[in-house]
Amino acid sequence: MTAGAAAAAAAAGNSALRGGTDTASGPEAVGPVVADARAAQPWWEGLGFAGRKKVLDAWRVLILRRAEELVDLIRAETGKTADDARLEVVLVADHLRWSAAHAARVLGRRRVRSGLLMFNQSATVEYRPLGVVGVIGPWNYPAFIPIGPVAAALAAGNTVVLKPSELTPGVGRWLADTLAEAVPGPAVLRVVTGGGQTGAALCRAAVDKISFTGSSATGRRVMAACAQNLTPVVIEGGGKDAMIVAADADLDAAADAAVWAAMSNAGQTCVGLERVYVVAEVADGFLRLVGDRAGALRTGERPDADLGPIVLPRQIEVIRAHVQDAVARGARLVLGGPESFAPPHVAPIVLADVPEDSIALTEETFGPVLVVNRVASVDEAVARANAVSYGLGASVYTRDRAQGRSIAGRLRAGMVSVNAVIAFAGIPALPFGGVGDSGFGRVHGPDGLREFSRSQAVTSQRFRPFMQPNSFARDPGTMRALLRMVRALYGR
Ligand code: NAD
Repeated sequence: MTAGAAAAAAAAGNSALRGGTDTASGPEAVGPVVADARAAQPWWEGLGFAGRKKVLDAWRVLILRRAEELVDLIRAETGKTADDARLEVVLVADHLRWSAAHAARVLGRRRVRSGLLMFNQSATVEYRPLGVVGVIGPWNYPAFIPIGPVAAALAAGNTVVLKPSELTPGVGRWLADTLAEAVPGPAVLRVVTGGGQTGAALCRAAVDKISFTGSSATGRRVMAACAQNLTPVVIEGGGKDAMIVAADADLDAAADAAVWAAMSNAGQTCVGLERVYVVAEVADGFLRLVGDRAGALRTGERPDADLGPIVLPRQIEVIRAHVQDAVARGARLVLGGPESFAPPHVAPIVLADVPEDSIALTEETFGPVLVVNRVASVDEAVARANAVSYGLGASVYTRDRAQGRSIAGRLRAGMVSVNAVIAFAGIPALPFGGVGDSGFGRVHGPDGLREFSRSQAVTSQRFRPFMQPNSFARDPGTMRALLRMVRALYGR
């Protein structure tokens, strides 16, 4: 396709072509780029926490100065609304700031108690960089999602090779180019572009860790490829997030939050809301509020649109299949239906009374579809929320904050917001990640910094011990005396 044809198709809103003008660097580029990143790593590590913070702070300032440029690029490659793109830039800046500011405290050398038995030793632990970290990103938040592992890995002293989604290579390159402007030395964030083959090549390139974000199915392939070199992985997979609405909830606030969490970014959010379990006595009122709010949203290419396109053309058929299957099994359409599909756009759809074994309730829909099911009690809501293979985010609405905390503790999810939605993603000090098919490992917060580091324990003898158990020259009574002492101390 010529550039002119691509531009015309993009102008006509054909999302399949977004990012399609990329000249992918491909799998063969991976080896040399990883080698360059490895060569740059000792210099970057040598800057120390303070030196790296200076660079990362300068990068953040540059990103914010050129924020609208990044917003335009995100929009050009994903078609998302300007405000959805601005939200990404806000989160990018906050997470970058946090990682740079806290790396020294979280990862730097600290003393630990050596304990009674090893009283003669001083003990320290510190977190050293791994080397080169490979980051494989998705297209749905092409700046915000990669910045979590990228910021943490860089702050910890690693260099990074980023493989952005083939749909959003420009955003990946923009991030690397702006950092290159801020770094007074070799490039410490390198980009390789291309599709799954390039990602697979990065997994096989003997990098020191892979941070993968994408679908759970691809996550399995990533893990299998990484197994060849025993390369450790973080898997941030898909989700099927649920909200629980208790009888005492502020229904207005819950409905507002549910519609935003389900429909923003046209539902293409890993921690987007796909299921609501609402206690029966307030279900009708809640559904009315959700239907009214979702029904007022604008979808399409218009400048004031609330929902942009579905970026992956094949996803439209997944969304359609989920809705059709639910309706065929007796679900009720509260809002939308077949008329909601106008590819590449899908207008909000709200379903009620959906059988629990429908694919709309067991598989990730990744579109602007919200299922609202009534339950007899909060206990039933918890059981249903936990009955899927995914365990990424969740939310709870109740006026009783103690009850909210207690429900949160019973949910099989990596992150829970009480009386809010997706609040955890905006708090850089909190770990982000899931359980089950949503993956394992964490980005963001102290856990995220440690994820891209290796601990190193060091002891240093302060004085000769009174008893020396770790020597063949020990006194014959030493071990018996030691055991007597441990019994006296810990044996009761
Ligand atoms: P995807 O799995 O299709 O692709 C993700 C990335 O993996 C892309 O860069 C792709 O090129 C690459 N890839 C594909 N095959 C590969 C292979 N064999 N080896 C290595 N890399 C390979 O996902 P997507 O469509 O880009 O993103 C949407 C999915 O991502 C959804 O399931 C969503 O829930 C999930 N997601 C999860 C999180 C999270 O933090 N848990 C965040 C955003 C998106």
